[in-house]
Amino acid sequence: MSSRGTAAGDRGTAVVIGGGLAGCLAAWALHGVAERVVVVERDRYPDGVDFRPGVPQAKHGHLLLEAGQRTIDELLPGALAELLAAGATRVPLSGGLRWLTSAGWLAPYDSDLAVLTCSRPLIDQVVLERVRAAPNVEFRTGTEVIGLLGDRHAVTGVQVNRRGRHGEETEAIPAELVVDAAGRATRAAKWLSVLGAPAVPRDRVDAGVSYATRFYHRPPTPPPTPPSTCRATPPTRAASASCCPSRASAGSSAWAACAASNPPSSPRSSRSSSACSATPSSPGR
Ligand SMILES: Cc1cc2nc3c(=O)[nH]c(=O)nc-3n(C[C@H](O)[C@H](O)[C@H](O)COP(=O)(O)OP(=O)(O)OC[C@H]3O[C@@H](n4cnc5c(N)ncnc54)[C@H](O)[C@@H]3O)c2cc1C
Repeated sequence: MSSRGTAAGDRGTAVVIGGGLAGCLAAWALHGVAERVVVVERDRYPDGVDFRPGVPQAKHGHLLLEAGQRTIDELLPGALAELLAAGATRVPLSGGLRWLTSAGWLAPYDSDLAVLTCSRPLIDQVVLERVRAAPNVEFRTGTEVIGLLGDRHAVTGVQVNRRGRHGEETEAIPAELVVDAAGRATRAAKWLSVLGAPAVPRDRVDAGVSYATRFYHRPPTPPPTPPSTCRATPPTRAASASCCPSRASAGSSAWAACAASNPPSSPRSSRSSSACSATPSSPGR
């Protein structure tokens, strides 16, 4: 969102709406530029690696593609090593990931790309802890942005509601820059229209995909199956399923995620439709 300039030498305040993955990384990117960065997050973060309401998809299986891994590691050097030490697994795309497509099993190929499999809360926690350590980044948790300050020409801050011991308190946080990282819950377009700004054009693409995920304990000696399996058979069958290692630390488990227009909700139907039960006819390396 636009900002008004600050006096020379004053690097000003940046407010980030939402302290999810994008919000934390935006705060980190800004902490060397702005005098002060305030991240406003309506949830209170859990102690340690755990789920929270603002990231409901975190209860599903999670893969981080190569570009995401590299970007996070470039911004926060050593973050990838930290994730691996905490139980994340890098599954090589060539050979490590068996991928069943509508044309059959993907043939082996040379690639140094890999997907990172671990729980989403683990990624969030590693990133959050790094960003929290920055002295000029301030987190306001349990606090919801309810509107923007400013006029139709410039945004000059945010209006927040904080759930305190004495009920809800409203506060204005002035800022030179406001970043909207509220994800799919964003109300920025509505707030801008309240300020009198021109309507924000909006595109909505509904992929029509729903997820159902089950977590399975992995046996101490895993069977000789591929470490991960994926299946996608578009366009005739929208259903796809994947099975990858999740947190490989204590209480090790594997996850199975099924994505479909009508994903199975019972263990029996989940098992029968899962790619985890499929066997590659032409195994990769
Ligand atoms: C079912 C599912 C599976 C997915 N699987 C993968 C995957 O395997 N790999 C992958 O890379 N991506 C995956 N994604 C996509 C990924 O989850 C999103 O791209 C990512 O979460 C977006 O991050 P974000 O920080 O922009 O938004 P969000 O994660 O939505 O975070 C927004 C944050 O803003 C906060 N917030 C919202 N409104 C306010 C407000 N008014 N005031 C204060 N705080 C507010 C919320 O509490 C939340 O913490 C999946 C998504 C879904 C739905």
